[in-house]
Amino acid sequence: MAKNQQLTLSSKFYMKKIPLLLFAFFLISSLQAQNNYYFPGKKFNPNILTPDAFLGYSVGTQHTRYDRLVSYFEYLSQVSDRVKFQTTGRTYEYRPQLMVAFSSPANLANLENIRTRHLALVDPTAKMPDVQSMPVVMQLGYNVHGNEASGGEASILTAYYLAACEDFEVQNTLKEAVIFIEPVINPDGRDRFVNWVNMHKGMPPVADPNDREHNEVWPSGRVNHYWFDLNRDWFLAVHRESRNRLNFYHQWYPNVVTDHHEMGTNSTHFFEPSKQSAENPLVPSYVYRNLNDSFAKYFEEAMNQIGSLYYTKESFDNLYPGYGSSYPDIQGGIGFLFEQGSSRGHVQDSQNGLLTFSFAVRNQLVNAIATIKGGVAQRENLLKFQREFFDSAVSSAKKSAVKGYVVGSDQDETRNRALLNMLLLHRIEVYPLQSEVKQDGKIFKAGRAYYVPVAQPQYRLVQSVFEKPVTFADSIFYDASAWNLPLAYGLPHAELKSGTVPTGDKLTFDALNFQPKAFAQTKYAYLLSPEDFNTHMALYQLLKDGFSVKVGQKPFRIETDQGPKSFGYGTLLIPVQTQKVTSDSIFAKLKEIAANTGVQFHSVKTGYSSEGVDLGSNNFGTVKAPKVLMPIGAGTSQYEAGEVWYMLDNYVGMPITKVDMDQLGRVNLSDYDVLVMVNGQYPSDAKFLDKVKAWVEAGGTLVTFKSASEWVIKNQIAKGKIRELKEKDSTATKARIDYEKAADNAGARYTGGAIFSADLDTTNPLGFGYPDRKIALYRNSNTLLELAESPYNTVIKYAAAPLLNGYVHPKTLEKIANSAGLLISSRGRGNVIMFADNPNFRGTWLGTSKLFFNALFFGNKISAPQQGNQEH
Ligand SMILES: [Zn+2]
Repeated sequence: MAKNQQLTLSSKFYMKKIPLLLFAFFLISSLQAQNNYYFPGKKFNPNILTPDAFLGYSVGTQHTRYDRLVSYFEYLSQVSDRVKFQTTGRTYEYRPQLMVAFSSPANLANLENIRTRHLALVDPTAKMPDVQSMPVVMQLGYNVHGNEASGGEASILTAYYLAACEDFEVQNTLKEAVIFIEPVINPDGRDRFVNWVNMHKGMPPVADPNDREHNEVWPSGRVNHYWFDLNRDWFLAVHRESRNRLNFYHQWYPNVVTDHHEMGTNSTHFFEPSKQSAENPLVPSYVYRNLNDSFAKYFEEAMNQIGSLYYTKESFDNLYPGYGSSYPDIQGGIGFLFEQGSSRGHVQDSQNGLLTFSFAVRNQLVNAIATIKGGVAQRENLLKFQREFFDSAVSSAKKSAVKGYVVGSDQDETRNRALLNMLLLHRIEVYPLQSEVKQDGKIFKAGRAYYVPVAQPQYRLVQSVFEKPVTFADSIFYDASAWNLPLAYGLPHAELKSGTVPTGDKLTFDALNFQPKAFAQTKYAYLLSPEDFNTHMALYQLLKDGFSVKVGQKPFRIETDQGPKSFGYGTLLIPVQTQKVTSDSIFAKLKEIAANTGVQFHSVKTGYSSEGVDLGSNNFGTVKAPKVLMPIGAGTSQYEAGEVWYMLDNYVGMPITKVDMDQLGRVNLSDYDVLVMVNGQYPSDAKFLDKVKAWVEAGGTLVTFKSASEWVIKNQIAKGKIRELKEKDSTATKARIDYEKAADNAGARYTGGAIFSADLDTTNPLGFGYPDRKIALYRNSNTLLELAESPYNTVIKYAAAPLLNGYVHPKTLEKIANSAGLLISSRGRGNVIMFADNPNFRGTWLGTSKLFFNALFFGNKISAPQQGNQEH
């Protein structure tokens, strides 16, 4: 196959340049080589170019660039009537997202009818269709982690097999199935990886794991453009890749979905069943026990046939519904996870011998084909089961003690809409309240709160969104154990167990276009109450354009164009006379911002408040647009750095300068107002520490998360004390535990991801815009901070019994109770703001991201209380 490695030009190109005879030789030899390794004994349509012939190299000897991969799918759709090329949207880097259909020519001609009939399976009110004549719908997904490239490569071979194989079995399969192939779920990440391994490939290749080819730089190809893990985003639906995919998903509700991954180089291959104790209790056991087991027989046979080692049952999580392999389980289908030992490059030494990329590709391929076989064999069962799944959703919901959930903030339409948008994307039925509902001491207002009944086809997803389990079959969490979304969005919510709720028509996407009330022009000042999540976006738009804005540190009540109104801590004031532009331009700008962001401005004609501080008070401080720098690169968390970047791009519209750790030395820190240090390892040499200390002293705001908060304390940049998780217990008897339990016990003490209750000082500038002192925090680390020595400097304190949702070891929980969640330590003219946790978790925790935005904009507004005295 070595000769084919040289051919990196497209087939069209060498058609012109290379004599036909020679071309034919390459074509035939490549076709034979490929088909012998990947498809022994199969007959293919000779008029369709093999991937090798099309690409100019043998699949597995090079990593295929995404654009070439897209071209091959396009090519197949042009030469085969079994293929329909379609896209669902584009990624952040404008790569098309593919969802290419494979089926018999007759089915493809009738695709829309097939889809409409299939949808009756997810609608309990529809007449049950005759499943005997219906094709099963399968969706094969590869390479959600961009650096797990064998899946993407296997997708090309799977496509070739479906488009060109002439065996009777394949032709029959295409009659009985509609198969969608999404060759790469994360195209931006894949190309980052592909470029890396191709540019470092030796000729001959280097198998030494130390070679640069096998060790990517930061950020890895695993993540998308914003450094997010898209295999957590099926449920959270933060990113456009996921949103496009979910839109497609709910047009088709596939019965079978695959998710092809890679794991460590020394591992073999994994297929489901997964670990039984990590199954989702909301999913009918029929899925795990019956359906999965019947497919596993096909995987087993396929792997045995090529002599590949594999394992099952020992690991991997099906509990969290946001993986590509678990979301289908909660939609009446079945998802399959495949994990293949990674060559992470073209060839690598491993404990199992030399691991080649083509070997990894072949394992993925045979299990994709085994899935298709299993799907066709189970076709009628799968179709019937899907309808039973949705029927049983509605019937079990009717027996539920909880009748529905009410959710919504009357002060923050932005967070309301963010949650509603996500619910609608999952086809959850939501209704606006038509009159006020009082529940659990909370008031939910008509027009600003919403009702989600449990009796609906998406009952199980409704439970996933709203329930707060704290007990689990397992104590080792591979990832999060809590994902209650009203807590993440920081929205008031309650369960309703009885009574009726007056609601309007079912909510649609169109109804989410919220516009604030009109406000009057004034020659005096405008006010903006800070509860809306888009407040910082509005603020930044004003500051960027040179408007002067002040922030109030005390509450007041004043006459506005909409009547007398009380304003809380952190209200923004835009005086008219001090601006550089005319009163008309100010009004026009504010109207534009209101339309863009949905925030509600109020106008006032007087600075005299009926209660509290007046508008000319010294308690109003001038706000400056912060210039923010974030050190990134090796040693820092790419997820947390990506979340900071994503949140600022998408919710503030403010640029952030990202600087590699090894470039930080040449940066003049005094050019920046704020430094954000996410979880990571930072240098402790005196030169670096002195630089940071001097910068804070000169007025800089240093914002730290998790281990970075520990770093500022250990290196005396900030005052504080770390609470140790491990107890120094000398009195304990020497317990004896079996060796086998060691890993489990260590894992159980670590907080993989759970939600806790805490108290927020809403008078502190970091707490501006929070109407309620009670706040939910997401915790996925073991950083524990003691309360500050100064009574004013603990902005957030964990509750005494803080667990709200998820798993935490009881000993760990004791340590979290009454610890600090957010601390301030002043140094010279600057402040260090220390988060014990990550406030921007997965771009979904709008409930705590506002604390982070406050730290950026108002972190320099916090001064030690004794310095506030005024001289006469
Ligand atoms: Zn993966």
